[in-house]
Amino acid sequence: MAKINYNKAFEAIYNQEKLPRKVKKHIFGKRMSKGKLNKLLDSVVIGRGASTMYEIADIKPYPFCPHCGCTQSRGSGNMTGYPEHWERFYCLRCNAVVGYIDNSPFIHALECKEDGYNPEF
Ligand SMILES: [Zn+2]
Repeated sequence: MAKINYNKAFEAIYNQEKLPRKVKKHIFGKRMSKGKLNKLLDSVVIGRGASTMYEIADIKPYPFCPHCGCTQSRGSGNMTGYPEHWERFYCLRCNAVVGYIDNSPFIHALECKEDGYNPEF
């Protein structure tokens, strides 16, 4: 198996640089098929919403990116000054916005089915 420089790979992910296919595949595993993803989306049940930005809504079976099924995300960090809080969370695999905080509790993209899974509106 090819040796992968994880530090370099994760640095590239955080800088939103393109990763070699092989490296991407190694880190994230195989991309979920559309059929499997749709099935997973159909099985989603949203429970109690988040009441603070440090929580996430009760999402069953588990929170994932509605666009590719990936479960990993990264936060942008607060993009404004304290005491305001405005932050976006991106899917590590496809860079879609999977979470959003705008002086509000954390909103996961899965909670926004009616809005095309876009938590920013
Ligand atoms: Zn994704």
